[in-house]
Amino acid sequence: MTSTDGGPASPDLGSTEAGPVPAPETLLDELDRAEAALAAVEAALGRLDDGAYGRCVSCGAGVDAAILEHDPAAAHCGACRHEHGGADPIVAG
Ligand SMILES: [Zn+2]
Repeated sequence: MTSTDGGPASPDLGSTEAGPVPAPETLLDELDRAEAALAAVEAALGRLDDGAYGRCVSCGAGVDAAILEHDPAAAHCGACRHEHGGADPIVAG
C-alpha cells in the first residue's frame, strides 16, 4: 500500500500576512477621523492667517499652551472643550 498521497498541500493562506484585514467599517471610521483632523488643521491654518490662532473660537480666551501642545489644531480653550464634552467640534467662521 504505497500509494502516493496526492493530498492537497495546504496553501496556508494568511499566515504570511502582516495581520488581519481591517473591516470596511473600521476603515471608514478611520477615514472619518482623518477627515475631521484634516478639517481641524485647515481651520487652524485659517486662524493662523487671521492672527486668531491660539484663541478660543467660542469665547475668545487664550487656548492653554498645554492644550495646543497636545493638539496644535485645538480651537477651544480648556473650559469650552470641557463644555463640549472634550470633543473639538469644527466651528465654521
Ligand atoms: Zn473658550
